[in-house]
Amino acid sequence: MINPTTAEAFTTVEFASAEETDAAIERAHQAFGGWRDLAPGDRATLLRRFARLVDDHGDELAQLEVRNSGHPIGNARWEAGNVRDVLNFYSATPERLFGRQIPVAGGIDVTFREPLGVVGVIVPWNFPMPIAGWGFAPALAAGNCVVLKPAEWTPLTALRLAEIAAEAGIPDGVFTVLPGEGPVVGRRLVEHPLVRKITFTGSTRVGKMIMAGCAEQLKRCTLELGGKSANVIFADADLERAATAAPGAVFDNSGQDCCARSRILVQSSVLDRFLELLEPAVKDVRVGDPADPETIMGPLTSAQHRQRVQGYLDDADVAYTGTAPDGPGFWMPPTVIINTSPDDRIWREEVFGPVLAVQPFTDEADAIRLANDSDYGLSGSIFTRDLGRALRVSRSVQAGNLSVNSHSSVRYWTPFGGYKQSGLGRELGPDAADAYTEEKNVFIADY
Ligand code: NAD
Repeated sequence: MINPTTAEAFTTVEFASAEETDAAIERAHQAFGGWRDLAPGDRATLLRRFARLVDDHGDELAQLEVRNSGHPIGNARWEAGNVRDVLNFYSATPERLFGRQIPVAGGIDVTFREPLGVVGVIVPWNFPMPIAGWGFAPALAAGNCVVLKPAEWTPLTALRLAEIAAEAGIPDGVFTVLPGEGPVVGRRLVEHPLVRKITFTGSTRVGKMIMAGCAEQLKRCTLELGGKSANVIFADADLERAATAAPGAVFDNSGQDCCARSRILVQSSVLDRFLELLEPAVKDVRVGDPADPETIMGPLTSAQHRQRVQGYLDDADVAYTGTAPDGPGFWMPPTVIINTSPDDRIWREEVFGPVLAVQPFTDEADAIRLANDSDYGLSGSIFTRDLGRALRVSRSVQAGNLSVNSHSSVRYWTPFGGYKQSGLGRELGPDAADAYTEEKNVFIADY
């Protein structure tokens, strides 16, 4: 594994083979009956103990993420805390996995919520801890066993979480982390008949392959995919607030964020003033050593990814950049592009790096049209002081997670997911565990 801050290798991880994947799935299948039939209170207790140990090891997990992913330490601590919170939140599920009783003549009709069996969770490299937790916590809580594949570049924290789960007493085979390559371990999870559901987070390109693979067996799948979200700023907005918040909405996690508001749409009457306010805010973003608590933006996670992002900039008209350290790490400064057209690659494709592009719009209808002119629909923001407009635009923008006068997208107790090619299904929120169950209906005659 390479430390993105220094570009030095610091450890190695052995990747699993297809045969080892089959063996892990078999072990998970063997463990399923015992986990499913555990008394709900006992399953809840184990999940709470797992959460407590994640909390105890929070700083260690965060330090590991800094080395493996280059995330600033403050962010990495939040990420470990998010896993703890998600486990605690879904630890209420075992005792609340309610069925229904439906009125019928001649008997009683009830529904049961039953776990699916073995669930495969496939995770990307941009948020290795939270995205793992959003899959495994509700799946385990609903009584499933999980085989999780972290991304090739960033498996270390997920491997450590599996050790912590074992320390908490989660039985052998119930939660397995298998590092490996997508086309080997990930593909086998999709193909194996004992895996009943795939929860995939990653690119839209691979997501389509996962869905096609799942279709072979009508396997359930949840897909959390790419984004190209709009940050729509109206003339009546608090422009200072909008301009000082805009960099954080793109440069957080070095732009390697599916929710990044990388398209900024500004009403033309205030464009000049907005750009004037934006420039110092971008130049203020502190890029540097992720172990330093003052750092806002670290390096990109890999050399290959930096090269991919650079490929977009080679064709673009860069207005200005912030600063970034020289040196061997995978650095890139916050970058702003002002002269774009709606057909430009940089405006249409997910760059997944610290790059934002700005375009003007004329009125509300134009803003909605431009915001929706994308294959994606994951998130977005609307800055306005007009409540009616906030509601109208929120209803009209085709995206799963919108925020008004804010860029906040992720709260573990609210649903998260995409419209259009940003995905299928929802994670987090009060209903996520239901997506890891079948609803069975039983009629009992009263004769
Ligand atoms: P990716 O699609 O390349 O890889 C994601 C995972 O899929 C990795 O674990 C990879 O090994 C695995 N994989 C690759 N090929 C596979 C195959 N043939 N079969 C099974 N598994 C396979 O994505 P990435 O580059 O790791 O992550 C970045 C992408 O993830 C971006 O597009 C980003 O927007 C998206 N993302 C979405 C969300 C969301 O919640 N919507 C969150 C984070 C990231």
